[in-house]
Amino acid sequence: MPEEVIVSGIDPKKLAKSIRWNECINAALREKCCVICGSEGVYSLLTCSEKCHDQMKKEFIEDFGPFKDITDAETGKTHRVPTEVIFEQGIRPQDLKKYPVVEKGSNA
Ligand SMILES: [Zn+2]
Repeated sequence: MPEEVIVSGIDPKKLAKSIRWNECINAALREKCCVICGSEGVYSLLTCSEKCHDQMKKEFIEDFGPFKDITDAETGKTHRVPTEVIFEQGIRPQDLKKYPVVEKGSNA
């Protein structure tokens, strides 16, 4: 699994690896519409409503899996962070310690 950079704040563009998500988000930013239902308007979180937000979260977690391994640049340790946490609030370096360390190259 490739190492991930630390993500702070909600930035779906950084999280989005799949072409589908990149295209979808770019289209939503360009057209200024909800990324899920396409309703027109400027939405800071890319969706128009709680319902679409929840749907987007669900699809993100399906796409990226329930956890992401993120390496703390300072300690070099890799922590397993729930995708939902990254999606909802982002992750700061000081928060990584709360999540379990992934041992690499050993019998983890
Ligand atoms: Zn919507």
